[in-house]
Amino acid sequence: MEELYTQINKKIYYLTVCIVITIMVMGLFVGNNYIGWHDTGFVLHSLLVAILTVCLLLYPKYVTHLLRTIIIIFAFCYFYTIFFLYPGIGSNFIFLCFIPAIAILFFDSKLFYFSIVINSVLITFTFIYIKLFDDESAYFYIKEDLLGNVVNFIGSQALICFIFYLTYGRMKKQQLYYEQVKQSERLRTTGQLAAAVAHEIRNPLTVVKGFLQLYENDEAYNIDAKRHFRLMIDELNIAEEVLSQFLSIAKPNKNEETETVNVRSALQSVADLLKSYGLYRNNKIELNVEEDIYIEANNMEIKQLLVNILKNAIEASKIGDPIMVTAGTKKNFVEIKVIDFGDGMTEEELKSLGTPFYSLKSKGTGLGMMICFNIAAKYKGTIEFQSAKGKGTTVTIRFP
Ligand code: ADP
Ligand code: MG
Repeated sequence: MEELYTQINKKIYYLTVCIVITIMVMGLFVGNNYIGWHDTGFVLHSLLVAILTVCLLLYPKYVTHLLRTIIIIFAFCYFYTIFFLYPGIGSNFIFLCFIPAIAILFFDSKLFYFSIVINSVLITFTFIYIKLFDDESAYFYIKEDLLGNVVNFIGSQALICFIFYLTYGRMKKQQLYYEQVKQSERLRTTGQLAAAVAHEIRNPLTVVKGFLQLYENDEAYNIDAKRHFRLMIDELNIAEEVLSQFLSIAKPNKNEETETVNVRSALQSVADLLKSYGLYRNNKIELNVEEDIYIEANNMEIKQLLVNILKNAIEASKIGDPIMVTAGTKKNFVEIKVIDFGDGMTEEELKSLGTPFYSLKSKGTGLGMMICFNIAAKYKGTIEFQSAKGKGTTVTIRFP
């Protein structure tokens, strides 16, 4: 889909550029009464046409800020050169006003502000030159009403700024929308994959569990063996629970039961669960939780979210560093913060969070954060990351 779009865009681009080049070349040969063919002016004009032609044709191959800047600079040179080479053509002044519009076509905000500033400076010098040195009155149409022309120029720049503001805003929105569609597409494919795998694993588990239940009631086994069977069955139950959690993400159940989750007790039980996990590298989990805060959600899912985030925090921490967990209410939100002083993440890494299978750990699955984002979105919550590489990470979870 994306490729198709860029191909269509490329065709349109080349068509437009061909028309522009044809017009520039025509300008070079048609109505060239003002200067001779071998004049330096004509050579300069030809040279600028050639350079612009090459740059415009090369651009789709090297879509860089540098090339865009070069094109804009040569566009300035070109339009100001023809303005001074052919004083009789009054309409050249219109082109000068609209040079910054090229930056709008490139969808480059820095370049746009740059060209607006440069154009204003150049026009000021041009007007001063015409006012003071244009003795032959070649630019009489400007000279006669200088103030009017200045007002016109300012008006044209304001118009361009307005157009830029509108198109830029719309383009940004569209880009964001496109990113979201891509992300949800990715989630759907991994969801289906996960569902298929989970389903395949659940079947053999059921068979094994069935046999164990059978043996548990079999008189032939002694008490000790039966206790072991019970343990195995319990573990299998947990595995089944995890799998159904997973399946619930793959095909979200709209009318699944929500309950009032006590954040304090949820955090407490998750911290207890992970205590042994943290102890092994001497990371203490410090809870600082207000009483009586509640979220309308599914208890298991909230715990799953907290486990994933706390586990990441422990895994990122150095030996002995504490993990701080705070929870409280802010305006209409319940806010839970998980703070660690571990590895931290760069901007790039932060952007990749939530992408299925994105993991920097040798034994990581890269699914934890995706599951967290899914659960948060389901209850209209948000998860925010603040992180500095080498210093640590603060995860802020908010629920209405
Ligand atoms: P996994 O834990 O299986 O690698 P996750 O989706 O839970 O998958 O996390 C993805 C990646 O995000 C991790 O591999 C890690 O690099 C990074 N990450 C997540 N949380 C933190 C954190 N608190 N500090 C530093 N890095 C983190
Ligand atoms: Mg994880």
